[in-house]
Amino acid sequence: MIAPGATIGILGGGQLGRMTALAAARLGYRVHVYAPERDNPTEQVCAEATHADYEDLDALRAFAAACDVVTYEFENVPVIAAETIAATTPVRPGPNWLHVAQDRRREKAFVRAAGAATAPYLAIENDADLLASGLSFPGILKTAQSGYDGKGQLRVSDAADLPSAWARLGKVPCVLEGLVPFEREISVIVARGLDGQVRCFPPVENRHENHILAETIVPAPIPAAVAERAIDLAERIARYGDLVGMIAVEMFVLANGQVLVNELAPRPHNSGHWSMDACQTDQFEQCVRAACALPLGDTTILAPARMRNLLGDAVNDWARFLADPTAHLHLYGKGEARPGRKMGHVNFVPHTKPLA
Ligand code: AMP
Repeated sequence: MIAPGATIGILGGGQLGRMTALAAARLGYRVHVYAPERDNPTEQVCAEATHADYEDLDALRAFAAACDVVTYEFENVPVIAAETIAATTPVRPGPNWLHVAQDRRREKAFVRAAGAATAPYLAIENDADLLASGLSFPGILKTAQSGYDGKGQLRVSDAADLPSAWARLGKVPCVLEGLVPFEREISVIVARGLDGQVRCFPPVENRHENHILAETIVPAPIPAAVAERAIDLAERIARYGDLVGMIAVEMFVLANGQVLVNELAPRPHNSGHWSMDACQTDQFEQCVRAACALPLGDTTILAPARMRNLLGDAVNDWARFLADPTAHLHLYGKGEARPGRKMGHVNFVPHTKPLA
């Protein structure tokens, strides 16, 4: 067990690192952030900061030596960085989770091997794959690596469209997924301790605008049997990957109640921000508990809630939220409110009225 007073290292300096650091500080830990950028949102609330590249092995070794345990707040940290640290200091979730989450081909194969279903898909890696039998149309062509918030994705209506879509994505390795007629998108955040204890947050519904998460509705308005299925899938995935730490599992719910896994994120997740104000334990504290091998916290919902992201200049409405007794405002300390940039979020608890 890594007891309060120890130092937790976080790779990455964004808002997820910031909120993890705040939760860690509440439990009496020191936090050391490692990020290439200066004055990042995490560093503003941390005890120590290292500014170095994620491939600077000497800096990573020095960071590892200064920390008792290390976690990360975004999944594109190079696997080599996590492995370098793991040689001397526990990294939780382990580097294997980065390896899986960084490539959609590996991720889907892993999810299926864990016993969960995905959308139908095939890898597109060369010209011959464009003619493969069993491709699903209409579909979504997604780059296998480094896509996020809908970037690196194109809809493809039929086989004739596929070659030009692949060319537009630069002929990099991709997956072609069948378009799933889902009823809603949900996610489950699951933590697993060093002792194998598993705890899930209840499934929540996620609504996107322009491919970016806009709102989370808590709890997800789904039948209990569907919620149980979603939790079962998240637990299977956590166990199959021998998780120590916390991950998020994004899923599609179909009209017939079937649940398909879309993506994994081995870190705190935007769809868990509601838990900061409407759950017995918030996801950032749970992430710290799991990383430090503390007992996991209770995940009971305290009240129905709705989380709204503040993207770009929506952050300028902060005073309105302060005046609303049901609104809990969280701002990330970012400078420029560029369009689509995640500047903060608001949790409405209980959510009793429609949002503007
Ligand atoms: P992703 O980057 O895989 O999370 O995809 C971004 C968003 O695109 C998802 O949240 C869905 O709204 C939509 N999407 C992705 N894959 C599919 C699919 N196979 N069928 C239908 N919608 C999808």
